[in-house]
Amino acid sequence: MNFMERQRKLRAGLTKSRLDWLVVSHLPNIHYLCGFTGSAGFLVVGESRSIFFSDSRYDTQAREEVKGGRIVIARTSVLQVLGEWIRKQSPGRSRIGIEADHMTVAERRRLADILPSRLKLTDAPPLIERQRMVKDFEELELIRNAVNLGADLFEQAVKGMRSGVLESEVAAEMEYAARRAGAEGMSFPTIIASGERSALPHGRATSNPVRANGFVVCDFGVILAGYCSDQTRTVWVGEISAEARRAYDAVREAQQAAIEAVRPGVSAGAVDNAARTVLRKAKLGRYFTHSTGHGVGLEVHEPPRVASGQQDLLEPGMVLTVEPGIYLPGQWGVRIEDMVLVTKSGHQVLTPTSKDLLVV
Ligand code: ZN
Ligand code: ZN
Repeated sequence: MNFMERQRKLRAGLTKSRLDWLVVSHLPNIHYLCGFTGSAGFLVVGESRSIFFSDSRYDTQAREEVKGGRIVIARTSVLQVLGEWIRKQSPGRSRIGIEADHMTVAERRRLADILPSRLKLTDAPPLIERQRMVKDFEELELIRNAVNLGADLFEQAVKGMRSGVLESEVAAEMEYAARRAGAEGMSFPTIIASGERSALPHGRATSNPVRANGFVVCDFGVILAGYCSDQTRTVWVGEISAEARRAYDAVREAQQAAIEAVRPGVSAGAVDNAARTVLRKAKLGRYFTHSTGHGVGLEVHEPPRVASGQQDLLEPGMVLTVEPGIYLPGQWGVRIEDMVLVTKSGHQVLTPTSKDLLVV
């Protein structure tokens, strides 16, 4: 990974935002900038250098992983050591950016207590998140690997899917297979939502049995080499009605329309609108209660948001989900989700799984 280049780009952003230092506290951002994958640490990025601060648990790991920065292992409070370090390095007035979306109120207070008043803490714009929206070549390779492993798990789900099996059993088989194949974990708790529960957009697998004659929404993803996958397929168990089939077809058509809208220069909101228009025409628009998608990378949900009115313009190298769904409370729900790469000429669907309705 080209950590030096990522830090160089960020420095240009700091200059533009008139920040002397940025205290990076969000772990995926730290991972992105210097390679550290542990669960505690801060990266301080300045005009010409970066310093990584952590505690003694991460001494060895930090020395193995951190690239493009000096390492300071604090023997007392990490934030205390960090604050004192910045104070020593900044003889004049300085503006110190923090990640307002991520640093806790208590951390901010502690840091402010250490710093003299000439050093001003200020909310930084989401510079790193913006940088992370466009993936480089190496990241795309890792994302493809995660997507392909994630997609294999759907076969596990289908193999075990029948009326009477517990939702949690289906999820367990998928998660076991993921770990066996080298995944670090799941991107989020696996969603296996059957019967009425399929109408819950985020129905985590429970100990409920799958019931005959209903949809089962399966939404799942793996983390492999740091990168996430995310996909949804909806299957029907038992005898399918014409109404359910019509609903599935409408969601599939909406998903296809949104995928076809994906190309550079188009706003994320326009992609959302493409899906919504199809469902509105099918008189199902009011049951599509969430946004159409989101960026995926080191985190399973990251910018851009693919939602109504979003002005972010798509660029080659962005990876998005496209996942319209409809939910009839107390009855059933359907969602179809793929990961899609924005390419120079349009898009490429990364998720290899068929979208033909499976009736088992
Ligand atoms: Zn999902
Ligand atoms: Zn998703």
